[in-house]
Amino acid sequence: MFKKLKEIKDVLLGGEIVVADTSGYPSKEDFYIDDSIQSQSSGDVFDVLSLCQNKEIKCLDCGHVRLIDVMPRICPVGNTADFAIVQAARVSYGDGTKTVNEDRGLIRYLMRHSHTTPFEMVEFKFHCKMPIFVSRQWIRHRTSSVNEYSGRYSIMKDNFYYPEIQDIRKQSMHNKQGSEDFMSSTCAEEFLNNLNEICQTAYNYYEKNIENGMTREQARMILPVNLYTEWYWKIDLHNLFHFLALRCDSHAQKEIRVFADAILELITPIVPVAVEAWNDYHPMRQALKLTSLEIDVIKSSLHGKKVENLKTLNSREKQEWIQKAERLGLEVK
Ligand SMILES: Cc1cc2nc3c(=O)[nH]c(=O)nc-3n(C[C@H](O)[C@H](O)[C@H](O)COP(=O)(O)OP(=O)(O)OC[C@H]3O[C@@H](n4cnc5c(N)ncnc54)[C@H](O)[C@@H]3O)c2cc1C
Repeated sequence: MFKKLKEIKDVLLGGEIVVADTSGYPSKEDFYIDDSIQSQSSGDVFDVLSLCQNKEIKCLDCGHVRLIDVMPRICPVGNTADFAIVQAARVSYGDGTKTVNEDRGLIRYLMRHSHTTPFEMVEFKFHCKMPIFVSRQWIRHRTSSVNEYSGRYSIMKDNFYYPEIQDIRKQSMHNKQGSEDFMSSTCAEEFLNNLNEICQTAYNYYEKNIENGMTREQARMILPVNLYTEWYWKIDLHNLFHFLALRCDSHAQKEIRVFADAILELITPIVPVAVEAWNDYHPMRQALKLTSLEIDVIKSSLHGKKVENLKTLNSREKQEWIQKAERLGLEVK
């Protein structure tokens, strides 16, 4: 059964939920707490957002990512929001498999085996401000909910992204979609002057047309894509990991990478165990995916060689390594 928060106020940390920034939040009385959450611990609960010391990270010259909310918001004391992943996963296993159900081990098992739905039980809501050309890459991630500033409803602000002079990059010679090295300071300065001139001219025309009575939805056509926009963005942890894998990666454009890195920094204290597992096991993080062709090459060059067992106490993970080693034609000592 659910209880109104005020009815269990005596079991909350210091009698109060720790809320860092209450603007826009529902009142404390609007939270409901599930009995099963409390039954996992002494019964004391806390606001999991309080684990995140700094809820806003500045990105580029005028952008930001702010962590607004998280589900679960209320956590048993001694846990992090990781507990919601374990709580959901245990439904699958029932009572019979207590040994794999040590929380960290279970989360790592789920991550290794792509049992993804328990990770969807955690959700994050962010307020993000980014240049339009960054938002166009970001919006391609369809498995999220977005509500964006409306240039039909409101005047677009005179707020353009100007890169740092030392961050104006050359076209990569190896990757047609990438950059490498930096432009000379003379070229970079010239580019910034051009950019500034065009943005200010465009914005002046935008304002003038609005003053002349033109509709905002058409007047905005004149504005360049380095104009800042902003949105609320809600996504579950499974899909956020997918976003982060692609957008924290070195192949992503730097201007979106800084936002992805900021998001990763904001969520890490809230779901540290899941983030650790993702870093360890995701092939775009610290793990490695081998193709069958690569396995064949390794097999043919290493056949018969003995290799060490994994340096982990997790017997299930060791067994998995033995199976992989066998596929590689290796023998585990
Ligand atoms: C380095 C880089 C370069 C890129 N270059 C280009 C480019 O040149 N041109 C371009 O257009 N895009 C480009 N993209 C965008 C890319 O193709 C994806 O659209 C984007 O990364 C979102 O990925 P996603 O579809 O997996 O994510 P999400 O939309 O979040 O979807 C997550 C997963 O859900 C499933 N899914 C969601 N919707 C559907 C659906 N409708 N049908 C089937 N399955 C679905 C898929 O399994 C998908 O992987 C680039 C992305 C990166 C990271």
